[in-house]
Amino acid sequence: MQDLIRILLVDDDEIDRLAVTHALRQSGLQTEIEEADSLAALRLALGRSFYDCLVLDYHLGDGHVTTVLNEHTPKPSFDGEPARPTLPPVIILTGSGNETVAVELMRAGATDYLPKEELTPSRIAQSVRNALRVHQSEAAVRQAQRDLEQRVIERTAELAAANRELELEMVNRHKAEGRAREHLEQLAHVARLSTLGEMAAELAHELNQPLGAIANYAHGCSKRIQNETADLDMVREVFDKIALQAERAGQIIHRLRRLVSRRQPDLAPADLNRLIEEVVGLQAGEAAQRQIALTLQLSPSLRPVRVDGILVQQVVLNLIRNSIDAVSTLEPQRRHVTLRTETAGSDHLRVSVIDDGPGCAPDVLDRLFDPFFTTKNRGMGMGLAICRSIIESHNGELWVRPNPEHGLTFFFTLPTETTAPTGTEATEGET
Ligand code: ADP
Repeated sequence: MQDLIRILLVDDDEIDRLAVTHALRQSGLQTEIEEADSLAALRLALGRSFYDCLVLDYHLGDGHVTTVLNEHTPKPSFDGEPARPTLPPVIILTGSGNETVAVELMRAGATDYLPKEELTPSRIAQSVRNALRVHQSEAAVRQAQRDLEQRVIERTAELAAANRELELEMVNRHKAEGRAREHLEQLAHVARLSTLGEMAAELAHELNQPLGAIANYAHGCSKRIQNETADLDMVREVFDKIALQAERAGQIIHRLRRLVSRRQPDLAPADLNRLIEEVVGLQAGEAAQRQIALTLQLSPSLRPVRVDGILVQQVVLNLIRNSIDAVSTLEPQRRHVTLRTETAGSDHLRVSVIDDGPGCAPDVLDRLFDPFFTTKNRGMGMGLAICRSIIESHNGELWVRPNPEHGLTFFFTLPTETTAPTGTEATEGET
């Protein structure tokens, strides 16, 4: 069954009102018609009741309907909600020749207009139906727009929540990375201490040399002063030699103190060749004692690397010590260990530690970097595992290859800083 359509008909001409009421009754629409004859009565009725449709004469005795339409112009809301009409659909009745005005009225918010001379039951029924349909469609569009906006708000809230979660995850990951770095440094520190513990005897021997020399120079000088055979030039020469030896001892202690120190990982631009030379300086004594030729082939003008210098030195120290252990089993003239630095590609440096030692069986090669893998009686098997973690934490790689004839070569790479070369002098020679 069709719903009852509540219509407010406003016309100041009673004959016209009768004609419209008659046409509506004949139209077949289920209508309930309320009548009014002025703008004032229209305002009153609108304030009092709800209507499905208004049928308004354009020109009423107390004014034009435009005023009422303007009073009800939908106002845009501040929160972006689509403007909501406050009037039901409006059909304007115009006299002949009033179409231009009717079009104006439609711009002002009317839904349709109907020239009075075309007033037939079917024409008014069509106009009312159209007006209701347009009104419903507009309401549906507004609802759809509201739904869409609601979904946008919900989706934005979801995305904001996801964003917050992601940020939290990043903070947590950052913290975890920080903890992992700290852990690595702790592990590396323990390993450095145990390596230095192993090296203690050699280091003591290394220190004894300059200290012994200082003592000898001092005694010799003192004797010559007692015998009154010393002259000023000779004494100055001896003091210069003493100072030189004291400096040598001081450097050894300085390098040791740096390696023993325990502090937060600290990335800074560094000259890789210089880092290597410092470590080799600590190992030179032992190499000489074991009759090992320790050779440096350092490429000049390498770009600086951004590293924690102590950690990289620890890697070099570990690789050199392993190579020294490996070649120590050979007859003295075959004991060679070489350290090489070079540029690898456009943005990396590569370090190679090459030895002529016995190498190792192919099936063992893959396991050298496993934690606790060792073939030494007093080995811990942690050195290479820690070295690999250190290099990877610097975004580099550490790997091993057997040499064509004898021994192994350990390689590691480090990314360079994107700055100019350091201008290090080329160094090649035996220590
Ligand atoms: P550790 O020195 O305590 O054994 P590392 O992790 O430094 O621990 O080394 C693990 C093992 O790798 C060594 O025990 C040794 O068998 C092997 N290795 C390391 N470097 C060499 C090398 N240059 N030549 C032959 N074997 C090596």
